[in-house]
Amino acid sequence: MNKQFETFLQNHNLSGISSINKSDLHNHLGKGGNVNYITSRYNLKIDLPPSKFESLFHMDEWAKENIKKKCPYIKRLEAAFVQAADDNISVLAASFGLDEAMTIGGMPVEAFIDTMKSFNQQLAPNTILLPELAFTRGCDVDKEFSRLDEVLSYNWFKSVDINGVESEQPIKNFKKIYRKAKEHGLRLKAHVGEFGTADDVMEAVEELELDEVHHGIASANSEFVLNWLSKHKIQLNVCPSSNVKLQVVESYAVHPIRKIYDYGIPVTINTDDMLVFNQSVSQEYLNLFKSGLMNGHELNHIREIGLREISYYGL
Ligand SMILES: [Zn+2]
Repeated sequence: MNKQFETFLQNHNLSGISSINKSDLHNHLGKGGNVNYITSRYNLKIDLPPSKFESLFHMDEWAKENIKKKCPYIKRLEAAFVQAADDNISVLAASFGLDEAMTIGGMPVEAFIDTMKSFNQQLAPNTILLPELAFTRGCDVDKEFSRLDEVLSYNWFKSVDINGVESEQPIKNFKKIYRKAKEHGLRLKAHVGEFGTADDVMEAVEELELDEVHHGIASANSEFVLNWLSKHKIQLNVCPSSNVKLQVVESYAVHPIRKIYDYGIPVTINTDDMLVFNQSVSQEYLNLFKSGLMNGHELNHIREIGLREISYYGL
């Protein structure tokens, strides 16, 4: 399978790349579907996004108007499972946020979990789902903490995350949430070093005892932080198209994943928000290969690092 993946990359054979097992470990599942599937399955007209966004705010506003208003959350989730099956995503870390009233997407948490389990069985039976509980960076930490016991009592979530605008509050404010999540055996992750700095990445890993960082590409600006991440084997879940379209990185050809990989840091390749950035995991691999940034052997190694994820959960 290793050689096959490399050959498919060399031949720019997208359906071949797609046929090989891969992981997607940074996926906001409500935006994890394929726009073509959603438009044809639900007979909706969704415009393709602009080629570049001015900011995270611009992207969120675009997604609100063009996706969230047009297609209900539950249908988008269904589409995301279909996408995982289509692209042979055998390990899917899927991020979900709680609403105000202990619901997800307007459904009570328990009913929501049952729906996700049946989507998983019916639409993507070969995909191992790793549900991730996501907090927004600007949230009311005390309020989230007060309902954490109940959320964790379902024993469904396997990891925690913080997403959104990195400057909204200090990451250390989330310490008590992360301590409790750790006590429950969850894997600890957070979005950091996407728009922030290398020091922000190191601070977040130290304060929250992170196992993995979503993005973390700013670490490439500091040899010290790169060496530190490498020494502690902190995994970075990188999303190249997201970075290019949000103008954090100029192009695939100069993406910092090259430098991060060269320091021996475990790194994975992921979609972030496929419904917005419109690139599957397979396309993400091919984009990096075509740009000349990484060779087939290295990309296959990264694919294997991603598949290793299940071992951290004893699966
Ligand atoms: Zn993200």
